[in-house]
Amino acid sequence: MKIAIIGGVAAGTSAAAKARRNNKEAEIVLFERDSDISYAGCGLPYYISEVTEGREKVIINTPEEFAKKYNIDVKTEHEVLEIKSEDKSLKYEDLKSNNVNKYNYDKLIITTGASPIMPPIPGYELDNIVPLRTVNDADKMKNIIDEKNPEKAVIVGAGLIGLEMAESFKEAGLEVAVVEKLPHVLPILSDEMSEIVEDHLREKDVNLVLNDGVSKFAGEGKVEKVVTESGKEVEGDLVLLAIGVKPNVKLAKEAGIELGETGAIAVNEKMETSEKDIYAAGDCAESKDLITGNPAWVPLGSTANKQGRTAGENVTGGKARHKGILKTGITKIFDLAVSRTGLLASEARENGFEDKEVKIKGVDHAGYYPNLSRLHLKGVFDKDTNKIIGAAVIGENGADKRIDVLSTAIYS
Ligand code: FAD
Repeated sequence: MKIAIIGGVAAGTSAAAKARRNNKEAEIVLFERDSDISYAGCGLPYYISEVTEGREKVIINTPEEFAKKYNIDVKTEHEVLEIKSEDKSLKYEDLKSNNVNKYNYDKLIITTGASPIMPPIPGYELDNIVPLRTVNDADKMKNIIDEKNPEKAVIVGAGLIGLEMAESFKEAGLEVAVVEKLPHVLPILSDEMSEIVEDHLREKDVNLVLNDGVSKFAGEGKVEKVVTESGKEVEGDLVLLAIGVKPNVKLAKEAGIELGETGAIAVNEKMETSEKDIYAAGDCAESKDLITGNPAWVPLGSTANKQGRTAGENVTGGKARHKGILKTGITKIFDLAVSRTGLLASEARENGFEDKEVKIKGVDHAGYYPNLSRLHLKGVFDKDTNKIIGAAVIGENGADKRIDVLSTAIYS
């Protein structure tokens, strides 16, 4: 049995490890075009700020360690150029020697992930404008901070990565501005909950420029300022582009594999694609929203690991199923934990639910005990059934506990 895996981060390594645990004899080859595999994307902001000390702390396994631990042929700096499903083969290039070769597989798992959206905004080629996706991106960012001593960071995009990096840049001693085209930060929350995060960011001296897109980057050789659509000039000698990611589906699409309505690779619960013996998992693949039953694309490491394990199990003859997601997520933004699960009220309405909302402002523990902190909770119910279909919780302490309970309740 020959198993090929394209991509070596969360989904790819989870799939490879699971396949090896199930089948000691199979030949397993993992192709990765980058030089690193098996790292914690989620840890990159903390590596940059040095809250997590050292690059090696975000690398779960080096390619050599992973190869040895699981007896897998790890081919880093090898890019797969083409999938030929008709003769079950891959064309791949060794990026160091430029040699192109062919590999015949019995089962293939595509875990090509996602890439940052890099909009062609005038001036984007200036120095010190960077995305953040890989450890190499984080190295670049860290080098700029360590060697070029920037003073002012501008983050374009107020999603999860943008706001985690606001904290990271502050930790690294930079002034921080966030430019966001939408009226509020964190579109995964309702406006009211986003406003709580906005107040906190302002308390932490983050300059929020909302409801305003970027029209150009200006500077001589390196970026010096960001000019917005309304004409504001935001000074910055380091820019993080964090306006979102898109699934890497080119290889799959060219091989005739069906994409779903979200634009990611369509898969069933076994992680099978439309082509026989080809599976897909992680940020390149769709999932299912467990509440609406609709295809969903929510690129998170937690889902990538689960889908990867499911694919690894099934290519070795197993019967695992990944039923879907509740879009549960939690992030730390300075002193706040910000979490959500299920549907927002607006999403519930779009999906035909008659929703009822409950808002609770409370505290995290009994009042007689010191160090009380505020908790803001918003729950969304289906009026017909009284079932909980969504929730968001924000607070300094205890938000994680509440969102875990609520997501478990919804799932059940
Ligand atoms: P990827 O990590 O994108 O890996 C895909 C790999 O495939 C890449 O290394 C790519 O080089 C390789 N590849 C693509 N095409 C080819 C080809 N043709 N040939 C060879 N190799 C190829 N998730 C959470 O759940 N919680 C968090 O708190 C969180 N925080 C994050 C913070 C940051 C700063 C970032 C960047 C991400 C964060 N994420 C978080 C998201 C998480 O990192 C991703 O969801 C996860 O990495 C997805 O794993 P993946 O294996 O599907 O894809």
